[in-house]
Amino acid sequence: TIGLVDTAKEMIATAQKHLVQPWPTAGDIGAEARGGMVSGDGIYVTDSEGRRLIDGPAGMWCVNAGHRRKELADVLHEQAMALSYNSPWYTMNQPSVTLSQRLADYAPGDLDHVFYTTGGSSAVETALRFMQFANNVKGRPDKKMIISRQGGYHGSTYLSASLNGRPRDHDWMDSASEQVIKLSCPNPFRRPEGMSEQVFCDFLVAEFRTVIEKTGKERIGAFIAEPVMASGGVIIPPQGYLPRMRALCADNDILFIADEVVTAFGRLGHVFASQDVFGITPDMITFAKGVTSGYFPLGGVMISSRLFEDLRRSNHSDAMFAHGLTYSSHPIGCAVALKNLDILEDGLLDHARAISGYFQASLKTLEDLPLVGEVRGLGLMACIECVADRISNNPLTLDLTVGKRIDGHCQDLGLLVRPLINMCVMSPPLTITPSQIDEMVSILRTSIERTQ
Ligand code: PLP
Repeated sequence: TIGLVDTAKEMIATAQKHLVQPWPTAGDIGAEARGGMVSGDGIYVTDSEGRRLIDGPAGMWCVNAGHRRKELADVLHEQAMALSYNSPWYTMNQPSVTLSQRLADYAPGDLDHVFYTTGGSSAVETALRFMQFANNVKGRPDKKMIISRQGGYHGSTYLSASLNGRPRDHDWMDSASEQVIKLSCPNPFRRPEGMSEQVFCDFLVAEFRTVIEKTGKERIGAFIAEPVMASGGVIIPPQGYLPRMRALCADNDILFIADEVVTAFGRLGHVFASQDVFGITPDMITFAKGVTSGYFPLGGVMISSRLFEDLRRSNHSDAMFAHGLTYSSHPIGCAVALKNLDILEDGLLDHARAISGYFQASLKTLEDLPLVGEVRGLGLMACIECVADRISNNPLTLDLTVGKRIDGHCQDLGLLVRPLINMCVMSPPLTITPSQIDEMVSILRTSIERTQ
């Protein structure tokens, strides 16, 4: 089949006829085709015109171990030849069981159980359906509201998408809005002028407390948060925010779901970031993406033992959690994830922790450019936010194509970034070296200068 689309032109022409890419506009559905890719190696990808580009976003925050890892390709092949699939309903396979134990060892507290899914949206959906099920079983069917945040992103299935906090994700789409309350985005860069970060944090926590009081804790089932908001523009909450939100959840019997679809598997230097980076133990952790470094679709939810014990103690031991996916516990995905964990343990986590300081400091040098309002980041995720002027730090409301234009210049010079309106987001493969970081920052500098 590769032969059918072996030139860039043919690939685009065929895609225009048959392929629907994510997030198309009504006018573009079936018409726009972009970004033909043919190969990858380390932090680089090569497009259908033969251009070699640094994969700045590691695909979609996921190719953590880098492209073309022979160990991952080999294990994928070996597992497909040994057992390519088994029904997760009636049978199990060794890779999924071994992986469940290794994930439980890494997960904080008593998050000792895993339910595997096919990706991040299905992981979030699973966590929410589990919350609904648990509250039905416990005889409190009204405790189902979900609290999410402006700026957050949790997926593209109906309920997970309903939690998303970017207005454009909802403008033309239906959502289960009656089940969701959105709190303010914990973005220190956008806090009211003159307000200290500490007071901003107090405000955010007080807002949550007020919502609980007004809505009634007996109606709120869960709070869901990315420890660092990814697609919202790499937003690192103020110091103390996550522990205080976690404490409010515990005090009010509200489940805290940490959406670690991006932040896990080395992106912040640890397998899970909740405890190791932010000092919190959630009730559930959703994960996907980096668990297989994108070599196979896999996700999952880590679930606290306490939640299972509560269910066992209920009067409804026959109640069924009627939820499962054909590809839950996929043997190939789980085998790849095991090998990916080996790679992380075998130096990649150490490397990610060691290199992140240089990565952040190098990107930070771009703050001297007039178009750049802030460069922020943590671990190996970062965002360059452009502003109309440095005095008011206004977002570029006049020209929202700035991110795309920077990305265009970057591509001409050999770098892919992820443009998000007035922001460019980067989350390269964790294997990146200092000289590759220099190459990346130099391309970004020239591209931003060309954009002014
Ligand atoms: N949660 C977060 C934090 C994400 O960033 C994403 C995707 O980017 C998702 C969930 C949805 O994951 P998927 O696209 O694998 O369904």
